[in-house]
Amino acid sequence: MKRYSAFAIAREALRHHTGWERAWRSPEPKKHYDVIIIGAGGHGLATAYHLGKDHGIRNVAILEKGWLGGGNTGRNTTIIRSNYLQDPSAAIYEKSRSLYETLSQDLNYNIMFSPRGVIMLAQTEHEVRGYKRTAQANALQGVKTEFISPQRVKELVPIISLDGPRYPVLGGLWQSRGGTARHDAVAWGYARACSDMGMDIIQKCEVTGITTEGGRVKGVETSRGAITCGKLGIVVAGHSGHLADMAGFRLPIESVALQALVSEPIKPCMDVVVMANTVHGYMSQSDKGEMVIGGGADGYNNYTQRGSFHHIEETVRALIETFPMISRLKMLRQWGGIVDMTGDRSPILSKTPVEGIFMNCGWGTGGFKAIPGSGFAMAELMARGGSSIADPFSMTRFREGRFIDESVAAGVAH
Ligand SMILES: Cc1cc2nc3c(=O)[nH]c(=O)nc-3n(C[C@H](O)[C@H](O)[C@H](O)COP(=O)(O)OP(=O)(O)OC[C@H]3O[C@@H](n4cnc5c(N)ncnc54)[C@H](O)[C@@H]3O)c2cc1C
Repeated sequence: MKRYSAFAIAREALRHHTGWERAWRSPEPKKHYDVIIIGAGGHGLATAYHLGKDHGIRNVAILEKGWLGGGNTGRNTTIIRSNYLQDPSAAIYEKSRSLYETLSQDLNYNIMFSPRGVIMLAQTEHEVRGYKRTAQANALQGVKTEFISPQRVKELVPIISLDGPRYPVLGGLWQSRGGTARHDAVAWGYARACSDMGMDIIQKCEVTGITTEGGRVKGVETSRGAITCGKLGIVVAGHSGHLADMAGFRLPIESVALQALVSEPIKPCMDVVVMANTVHGYMSQSDKGEMVIGGGADGYNNYTQRGSFHHIEETVRALIETFPMISRLKMLRQWGGIVDMTGDRSPILSKTPVEGIFMNCGWGTGGFKAIPGSGFAMAELMARGGSSIADPFSMTRFREGRFIDESVAAGVAH
């Protein structure tokens, strides 16, 4: 792989950009791989990347039914933060956030990480108490956050109205090194690095069946033929229940649509990310100037992967109370993704009842921020059979009552 650099840009400018290589190969599937990962979203690609980089496992295929990054990874609102309450969550999300800090350099691909800061607004007394408690927990976990006053919120977000009619701003939980990254670039950067390590990313290859023998994984049936493998990672977000069914076990997962929208581009007016969980809305401004707005998930299970007007109306109406200026903006586009929700709103990184099959799912409405840390931990779990970061997120926790309750940090928020 030729490295991207200022020198490479200058060289290509001089030869009319005729020397750029394809970022990743498009190979035909082989008959056998040591490891198959199903799903070329951020979590699947990051898992493959760390299998190769940290554990030297490179005979790996990543199978994707559509195009890489075309699932939730390319549909989210890109918020990155690690201000969770429980210790296992802080460990994985802070590992992830810290890996994001140098991901562009590590992958030699500009993922446009922008640690502009994230505020979670406290708009009820209950939220004030909850976020003060989270700030204390974060201090013990080594995660840098603080509870800030309404005046400080106003300094950071001049366009905010502190005295909304229903929910005045009473303060906020501020994480100064939270922020955003370009979601497609995260997927593309990992894909390029995996391909460079000799891994095969096979797009338009849907897994239609999983074969097992004597309680152990044997391989997969795909729309491009059967492939055998030593180990199998299922990393398919909203389709996890479906794939688990193919392998013969059930997951405590529900699939629901989550949607977002962007406004027309406007001049820079807000350089932090703001989340207003009481009214179910959050907003940031993209590099292009669009206001990126997300809301809550659908109240019923479905696989439709599209937006709906009533949610958009509800989200925008709620946010206008706190940001009156957005009432004058036109909506540019809306979309939806199918997210995978667990009962305790924490992910599953786990061995399964079938030997050799591993699950990575349950990231729900907030897994973009977790991609690097999840890949790191999942690769360790698959390569070594255990991982101090992943182990608390085993699927047996639901049977054993060891819930990692993040319904405040992740139930609505992203
Ligand atoms: C509107 C919206 C806003 C969000 N906002 C945020 C946010 O601000 N911050 C945040 O941290 N998170 C956010 N999220 C959540 C985040 O996007 C997801 O948690 C994360 O992207 C999940 O990544 P993944 O790799 O697990 O799944 P995906 O990116 O969905 O990848 C799974 C892949 O598996 C493939 N697949 C499925 N079935 C098969 C099969 N049978 N064979 C082969 N391939 C298959 C799919 O095509 C897909 O490409 C948001 C999500 C949505 C929808």
